[in-house]
Amino acid sequence: MAATLTGSGIALGFSCAAKFSKRSSSSSSSSNRRCIKMSVSVEEKTKKFTLQKSEEAFNAAKNLMPGGVNSPVRAFKSVGGQPVVMDSAKGSRIRDIDGNEYIDYVGSWGPAIIGHADDEVLAALAETMKKGTSFGAPCLLENVLAEMVISAVPSIEMVRFVNSGTEACMGVLRLARAFTGKQKFIKFEGCYHGHANSFLVKAGSGVATLGLPDSPGVPKSATSDTLTAPYNDIAAVEKLFEANKGEIAAIILEPVVGNSGFITPKPEFIEGIRRITKDNGALLIFDEVMTGFRLAYGGAQEYFGITPDLTTLGKIIGGGLPVGAYGGRRDIMEMVAPAGPMYQAGTLSGNPLAMTAGIHTLKRLSQPGTYEYLDKITKELTNGILEAGKKTGHAMCGGYISGMFGFFFTEGPVYDFSDAKKSDTEKFGKFFRGMLEEGVYLAPSQFEAGFTSLAHTSEDIQFTIAAAEKVLSRI
Ligand code: PMP
Repeated sequence: MAATLTGSGIALGFSCAAKFSKRSSSSSSSSNRRCIKMSVSVEEKTKKFTLQKSEEAFNAAKNLMPGGVNSPVRAFKSVGGQPVVMDSAKGSRIRDIDGNEYIDYVGSWGPAIIGHADDEVLAALAETMKKGTSFGAPCLLENVLAEMVISAVPSIEMVRFVNSGTEACMGVLRLARAFTGKQKFIKFEGCYHGHANSFLVKAGSGVATLGLPDSPGVPKSATSDTLTAPYNDIAAVEKLFEANKGEIAAIILEPVVGNSGFITPKPEFIEGIRRITKDNGALLIFDEVMTGFRLAYGGAQEYFGITPDLTTLGKIIGGGLPVGAYGGRRDIMEMVAPAGPMYQAGTLSGNPLAMTAGIHTLKRLSQPGTYEYLDKITKELTNGILEAGKKTGHAMCGGYISGMFGFFFTEGPVYDFSDAKKSDTEKFGKFFRGMLEEGVYLAPSQFEAGFTSLAHTSEDIQFTIAAAEKVLSRI
């Protein structure tokens, strides 16, 4: 992608903490406050980094919720230490309950692509909220977001909104099975498609992060039709079709992997699975929960020019509120109830708040220059970190596309999950904790992608690279 910044059409976020909430400036005298302004006062510089309040809160949480969290990777188990308990976020910044502020490359695991708590999104939400938060009946906002999604994503002619990526993947698999009348499907090692039973086989994300085998509680019957192959291995896929002739309903994949770290598909792989599915009467499903509206406005399918039959979405299309969606060819989607017999439903599906946040997030993303900007800053960031690794003598590899990036502590190249596992995860843990102390919040796992946003500035990126060099030189 061209890395030209035209900029004028893009609201480029917040200049270094200036736009943080009133609360943050009024609390600037509190003892533990550490701020990542480019020019910090001498007094601020000498303040010690502490996570005391976070530790207290997390210790209390452990008695209240399993592992103290509501989603496993948040618990920092693979990087050591205790998780940071967050209080607020704005633009490219996130602030914890001890008053520490970080440049955030997690972005709520993807949704915050225009920056946290965007003023326009917040204002639209406030207006929508006055009219009620959920009707359990059709509302006009569903039409608006559906039209935006359909016109943006090449494969989607009709869409069904749900409440999470997990739900989207559950629904799409049932639909693929219903449409083809076949039961088996192929997924790839290290890819994550939510936590539904059928997908918890060689899964990525938290399952990979914590080194868990397939989860107890998943009945054998739920996974007996789940076939797996290594990512980027077209010969393995061919063999599976050969061995299961006429029985495979679909292939589902992350078109760029984010859940075993950042891994891109080889062109012959992504073209090959399109060809093989067509030749065998199977459906191709792109799980674009992470890549949708992130790699390009039309997602990975627009970026690579490969159109699947079905697509799942989530994260960005809810602008930070709970959402998911699946969509695709009209003839397939018309099987979904009540148009057709495949049942799937949801109390809060298409609720006005999620629709509003999604609409205003997509509106911003559709402006000219958006993805060029993401590409420019993410390139600067990834190259800067890799260069810092080289300077300090660490074996590292990595990559990026638009606003998504990742790196591994191994020479590389990384084409699949077994390559990714060669990364020195202990070193990643040290790097992660060092970066945290420097004021940079990365995903607390080697096996997760990172995300930039339109609110990240060039100063943010330069600060991050300098921090990385500092940390890498001492680990
Ligand atoms: N598919 C992919 C590719 C994902 O990255 C995720 C979540 N990270 C999911 C599905 C599940 O989405 P959710 O967490 O919203 O259930």
